[in-house]
Amino acid sequence: MSVNQQAHTGPPYGQPQPGYQGYQQPAYGGQSLPGVPQAQYGAYNGPVPGYQQPVPPQGYFPSLGFPLKGSPVSLNSDTSSLAPNFIGSLRAPPTSGAPPPASGASHPSGPLAYSQFEHGDVQNGIPASAAPVQRPPASQPFLPGSAPTPVSQISTFQQYGPPPASVQQLRNHMAGMTIGSTAASAPPPAGLGYGVGPSSYPPTTGAPRPPAMPGPPLPGQTVAAPPSSQPNHVSSPPPPSTMAGLHPGPPMSGLHGPPPPTHPPQPGYPMQQNGSFGQMRGPQPNYGGAYPGAPNYGSPPGPPPPPKRLDPDSIPSPQLNELPPQQKPRHRIDPDAIPSPIQVIEDDRNNRGSEPFVTGVRGQVPPLVTTNFLVKDQGNASPRYIRCTSYNIPCTSDMAKQSQVPLAAVIKPLAALPPEETLPYLVDHGESGPVRCNRCKAYMCPFMQFIEGGRRFQCCFCSCVTEVPPHYFQHLDHTGKRVDFYDRPELSLGSYEFLATVDYCKNNKFPSPPAFIFMIDVSYNAVKSGLVRLICEELKSLLDYLPREGNMEESAIRVGFVTYNKVLHFYNVKSSLAQPQMMVVSDVADMFVPLLDGFLVNVNESRTVIASLLDQIPEMFADTRETETVFAPVIQAGLEALKAAECAGKLFIFHTSLPIAEAPGKLKNRDDRKLINTDKEKTLFQPQTSFYNNLAKDCVAQGCCVDLFLFPNQYLDVATLGVVPYQTGGSIYKYAYFQLETDQYRFLNDLRRDVQKEVGFDAVMRVRTSTGIRATDFFGAFYMSNTTDVEMAGLDCDKTITVEFKHDDKLSEDSGALLQCALLYTSCAGQRRLRIHNLSLNCCTQLADLYRNCETDTLINYLAKFAYRGVLSSPVKTVRDALINQCAQILACYRKNCASPSSAGQLILPECMKLLPVYLNCVLKSDVLQPGPEVTTDDRAYIRQLVTSMDVAETNVFFYPRLLPLTKADVDSDSLPAAIRNSEERLSKGDIYLLENGLNIFVWVGVSVQQGLIQNLFGVSSFSQISNALSTLPVLENPFSKKVRSIVDMLQGQRSRYMKLIVVKQEDKLEMLFKHFLVEDKSLTGGASYVDFLCHMHKEIRQLLS
Ligand SMILES: [Zn+2]
Repeated sequence: MSVNQQAHTGPPYGQPQPGYQGYQQPAYGGQSLPGVPQAQYGAYNGPVPGYQQPVPPQGYFPSLGFPLKGSPVSLNSDTSSLAPNFIGSLRAPPTSGAPPPASGASHPSGPLAYSQFEHGDVQNGIPASAAPVQRPPASQPFLPGSAPTPVSQISTFQQYGPPPASVQQLRNHMAGMTIGSTAASAPPPAGLGYGVGPSSYPPTTGAPRPPAMPGPPLPGQTVAAPPSSQPNHVSSPPPPSTMAGLHPGPPMSGLHGPPPPTHPPQPGYPMQQNGSFGQMRGPQPNYGGAYPGAPNYGSPPGPPPPPKRLDPDSIPSPQLNELPPQQKPRHRIDPDAIPSPIQVIEDDRNNRGSEPFVTGVRGQVPPLVTTNFLVKDQGNASPRYIRCTSYNIPCTSDMAKQSQVPLAAVIKPLAALPPEETLPYLVDHGESGPVRCNRCKAYMCPFMQFIEGGRRFQCCFCSCVTEVPPHYFQHLDHTGKRVDFYDRPELSLGSYEFLATVDYCKNNKFPSPPAFIFMIDVSYNAVKSGLVRLICEELKSLLDYLPREGNMEESAIRVGFVTYNKVLHFYNVKSSLAQPQMMVVSDVADMFVPLLDGFLVNVNESRTVIASLLDQIPEMFADTRETETVFAPVIQAGLEALKAAECAGKLFIFHTSLPIAEAPGKLKNRDDRKLINTDKEKTLFQPQTSFYNNLAKDCVAQGCCVDLFLFPNQYLDVATLGVVPYQTGGSIYKYAYFQLETDQYRFLNDLRRDVQKEVGFDAVMRVRTSTGIRATDFFGAFYMSNTTDVEMAGLDCDKTITVEFKHDDKLSEDSGALLQCALLYTSCAGQRRLRIHNLSLNCCTQLADLYRNCETDTLINYLAKFAYRGVLSSPVKTVRDALINQCAQILACYRKNCASPSSAGQLILPECMKLLPVYLNCVLKSDVLQPGPEVTTDDRAYIRQLVTSMDVAETNVFFYPRLLPLTKADVDSDSLPAAIRNSEERLSKGDIYLLENGLNIFVWVGVSVQQGLIQNLFGVSSFSQISNALSTLPVLENPFSKKVRSIVDMLQGQRSRYMKLIVVKQEDKLEMLFKHFLVEDKSLTGGASYVDFLCHMHKEIRQLLS
C-alpha cells in the first residue's frame, strides 16, 4: 500500500550548523582526499622509472607518522640504562638457506619434456633465491633515476663467494665483543644485516639441543651456538636476546621454578655488567597489590605462594644469603631491561627508513609498519598490499607444527598508496582477456616460465604447461626472458590490473555504475538530537564528492534517499520534478520499492530536487513522536532498489535504536552482563537471530554493501545489527550518546571519508598458492559460499583480509613458495577489473630461518583475529589460555632448537619476536578478551568486528597505543616528538602527553604543568579551569598550540577513522579511562603488567621444555 503524497514545502534550511566548518578540514579538503589517491590508470610505458627521491609527503603518512629518521629519542632519565640485549635491529638477513638454483623457477614435478630449457640459463621472473646480496648494502645510496634493476642482472654465483670483507671483519669484531659463553659467534651488526649473503652463515648443526641446559655446558658439547641459531641483529655486544632480568642467577631463581641452587653465577653474565638489573623500583602507582591475573594462569610449582610468584618485589630470594654481596639488591626486573616496542620501532626506522623497499628479492622481510618507507615494485607485491607472518616458510608441515608459528598473510587488495608510489597499471588484453594457466587458472605473472622459444609457458603454481595465445607470443632473449619483459606489467611487476572481459561479469553482462542509497532514521531520538538535520545539511555538499574514476568530470554513481522509523519513506527525485515526491511503505513485512524511475538519479541532473528534499526532510519530521524503528526492512528496501536497477551499490544507514517495531528482523534487548566470564559469554557476540545472516547472503549476491552509522543511547545489539555490514564488506561506525556539539565533527569526518574513499563492488578474491601450501582459513569482513572464494559486496581501500596457509605437501628451498591474490571487482565507474598481487616467499629446512624472518606485528594481527573469532564459539578464558599456550610453544620451540645452549633460567627470545610477549599481553588485556566494568556489550561486539578488518598498522597502534610527550615537541620542526613506552611511570606530572590508538586521542595534562603551557594550549589560566568536555583543542595563535594541533591533524590524517579527542587531567575521574591504555601496566581489570606477563611466559616456556 503505497501512498503518494506531495511533500510539503518548508522554509529552506540555510543556517549552517554551529561549529560546522564545511570542507575546511585539513584531511578532507576537497576532491582529492589525502591518502585516497584518485584512480588514474595511465598507459603502461614500460617499467616504473628509477626510484625518484620523493618530495616530502604532504600530509600523507602511509601507515605511521612517527618522527622521521634522525629524530632524537626522548628518554626518561632512567632509560639510559637500557639493557644492551634489546638494543638492536629487528631483523635477520632474509635467509640462510641453500644457494639458489641456477634456474629462475624450478620444476617441482621433476624432469619434464622441456629439458632443453633446464640448463640453468632460464632466468625468467624473479630470482628464486632470497639472495641478500642482491640488496644494496644499507650504506649504499640508492641512485635516483637509475633504471630498474633487471632481475637477471644478478648473477647467482655471487652468492657462493665469500662474504664481503667488511662484513667478515665486522663479524670478527662482533665476535670479539661478545661476552661470556652465551654467544661464541656473534651476529653481524644491525645496519649490515641485509648485506650479508647466505654463504656467510655456516650451515646449522642438524641435531636439536637438549631442551634446557641449566648450568655449564655438558662435557663434549660445544658451547658455541651454531651461528644460524643466533638472532642476527644485535647492534651492540650482546648474546642472543637473553632476558637478562630473568637470568638464572640465584636472585631470580625463586621466581622461576626450582633453582639450580649449587651453581655459582655463570661467568660473563651480561646483566651483571650492565648494572641496570640491580636497580630497585617502587611498586607501580595505584597498583600496589599482587599480580591479579595470576590465578588465571594456573598454579605454578615451587615454594612461593602462587599470587606472589610473578611479582619480583614481593619474593624473598631463598638463596639471598649465599649470594655474592653485590648481587643482593637484585630483586626487581628493570622495565628498561626488557624488550621495548619504542626501541624496536626506532631502530627499524633508523635502519630501514632511509631507502626504498625494492621488492625484487624473494622472501624479503619489509620494514615495520611503523617505519616510513617507499616501495618500488620489482616483481613482488608491496607490503602495503600483503604482509606475512613469516617470509620463510618451513618446508614441511611437521616443522610448521613444531614451531606453532602461524603462516598467514594480511592482504589489503585496494590499499591506498602514497602519492610518490605508482598505482597498479591497468592491462587491457582486449576481447581475449588475461592470459591464464589452463589448469589452475592462475593469472600471468612474473614467475611464469616461458619455454619452447616462448610458445608455451609453465605455471609457477601448478607446473602445468599452457600454450601462449598467438596474440601474446613474444621471443625470448638469450637468458630465456621475453624481450617485452619490461613493457608488460604482468611480467615484471608484483601488482597490476587486468581489464576483465564480459566472461568475468555477472550474467555475462557488463555492470552498470554502482549506486549509493542514503537511509536515514527519522525516529524521535534522531530528530531530537539534531542528527537528521546534520546529515541532510552535510549531504547537500558531500554529494559533489562521490568517488570518480580517473579523470572523469563527474561521478558515475547514482544516488537515492530513504527515511524511516516504523515505516519507510522513498523519495522520487527525478530531475523533471519541481518538488521531490514521498512514497510511504508501511507494510514492512514484505518490502518492495514503490518506484523505479526517479529513485536512483544522477546528482548533477537532479541537483535542485535533491537540495529541496534535503531541506525538507528535517522539517517534515520535526514534530515526530515515533520512537520505534525497523532495521531489516531498511536493508531489504535498499537491496530491492539495487536489484531493480540491476546494479551494485552501497547503503549508508544512519540508525539510532534497537529495532523493536513489529517487522522482520525485530530484536529484543538480550544484553546481560552477568554472562561475562561464564560459558554463555559467547552468546553476547553472536547474532540473536539468523535472519540477518540470510539477508547478508542476499546482499552479497546483489553486490549490496552496507555501511552502518550507529548513534545509540542504550544497547542496540551491535552483534546482530552488524551482521549485514560485516558480511557485505561494509563498515560500522558507532557514536554512543551522540551530542551534536561534541561529536558532529568526528561523525562528519567519518562520513566524508567513507563516502569518498576508493571502493570496489561485487568483489571476489581468491588466493592461489604454489604446490605444497594452500589457503585454509580467512578472517575479515566478507562472505564465503565455498572454501576458496572470499566474496564482498563492497571492498574499500581500508579493508583487510587475513589468510592462513597450511601445508598439503613438502616445499622445497629451491623453488620457494608463491602467493597470487586475484581480486575481481567493479570499479566506481562500473568497469569490471581484476587486481593481481603476487608474492614470492622463501622456504627453509632450519627452524632458525623461520624465526629470523618473522614479523611480529603481522603475527599479532593474525592472533588477535583468530582469538576474536574464537570468542564466538568458546569461553573467553579458553581463548586466552590458547593464545598464551600457542605463544609459549612458539618461543619454547625457538629456545629448544635455535637458541644457544644456556641455563634454563634464562628467557631467550628470537630477535624478530622479542616483542611477542608485550604485544600478546595487550591482546589478552583488550576489551574483547578482558572487559573492564565500563565496557559495554555493544562496545565489545563493535571492537571485535572492527579489529577483524584491520591491517597490520592499525592492529599495531590499537593494541600498543602511541604515547607522545607533547611538551617535548619541537615547535620549529615538522617531526613528532619521540614516542615513549605505555606506562604510568614514564609520565611526568610536569608534562602534557598525547595517546592515540586509532579510535581515540587522549590529551593527558599533568598536575604540575607550567601555567604558560596551559594558557597556550587551552586558553585558560590554570589547570583547574581546563574543561574535560573539550572535543577539539581551541585554535590559539601561538607556536605550541599550532604545533599540537598540527600533530593531532597529522595523526587524524593517518587513520581510517576520525579519532575521538578526550582531554584528561591528572587525578581526574577520566584518568582511569586513560590508564586503561597504558598497556605496560597492570590493569584494573586483572590484566598483567608487561613485566609480570613476561615472567609468566617464561614459566610457561620452561614447563614446555622440561
Ligand atoms: Zn597453473
